[in-house]
Amino acid sequence: MKIKELFKGGKTVFSFEIFPPKKDGMLDNLQETLEQLAALKPDFISVTHGAGGSVPGCSTADVASIIKDKFHTETIVHLTCVNSTFAEVDAAIEDLQSRGIENVLALRGDINPDIPPKKDFAHASDLIAYMKERSSLGFSGACYPEGHTESESLDADIANLKIKVNAGAEHLISQLFFDNAAFYEFRDKARAAGISVPIEAGIMPCVNANQIRRMVSTCGASLPQKFVRIISRYENNPDALRDAGIAYAIDQIIDLAANGVDGIHLYTMNKPYIAQKICESCYNIVKS
Ligand code: FAD
Repeated sequence: MKIKELFKGGKTVFSFEIFPPKKDGMLDNLQETLEQLAALKPDFISVTHGAGGSVPGCSTADVASIIKDKFHTETIVHLTCVNSTFAEVDAAIEDLQSRGIENVLALRGDINPDIPPKKDFAHASDLIAYMKERSSLGFSGACYPEGHTESESLDADIANLKIKVNAGAEHLISQLFFDNAAFYEFRDKARAAGISVPIEAGIMPCVNANQIRRMVSTCGASLPQKFVRIISRYENNPDALRDAGIAYAIDQIIDLAANGVDGIHLYTMNKPYIAQKICESCYNIVKS
């Protein structure tokens, strides 16, 4: 099924993100993780690209095939283009179509200062335009409630987002954020700019202090005082921090649902326990 179809009933779409294993011998663990996540009946599970992918049998597409064929759950493969050639993308299209995978989250990828980008694709919008001409896949794109870190302003980033949607992105998934007000401001500006495709809010339950620091330094999300107080009070008590991080995410999700968000995309970090706790608390929200 194409992801855009999921939004037609008007319910809040609820989805998960996972990453492929980074080490050999992790396939059994992954199967267990997927079984537990699929049991929560998300609308789809997306699989990241680039962080793992080198383990035999566990590439992004391999994991997506397991999600679809074994756990009968819809899936999106993430595909980055900054280090890809046209020929590599042609091969990816053929591979995805032969597996019956229908959805791609088309991304530029982060630029590594030590690896000069290849020249074929400059932006995610170029990847979407290229693949759309050569396939019947459905395309999603990334968006940034507080602006992409390379953008001079949120308005400039939204103007570029419009190019991505015009190229064929039918659905957007947001970068993680901790301040719902920032998401609402972004959503209002995107709608005012003529972006009418569904926008899912990316929620990352923060369950350990190192993870929070790493995430914030790479994606630039701002931290509301309430969140900062939680971290500083519980950073040396892992169980309390985990519970507080889950509760904070639940609070965000309830507020987003009440404010008519199109969907919630949960960055599960491959931890079913966290997804289970959130689904238990938000069951009537995510199923309504
Ligand atoms: P783009 O849409 O190309 O935007 C990048 C920058 O260029 C922005 O500043 C934008 O304003 C500007 N821009 C865009 N189009 C144009 C244009 N036509 N002209 C001029 N400027 C333009 N990374 C991974 O490596 N693997 C993953 O699996 C992965 N998954 C992600 C999932 C989500 C939901 C999100 C939000 C991010 C993910 N990322 C992933 C990170 C992503 O690759 C980086 O944030 C990257 O720096 C930008 O990717 P993009 O697709 O948003 O790029």
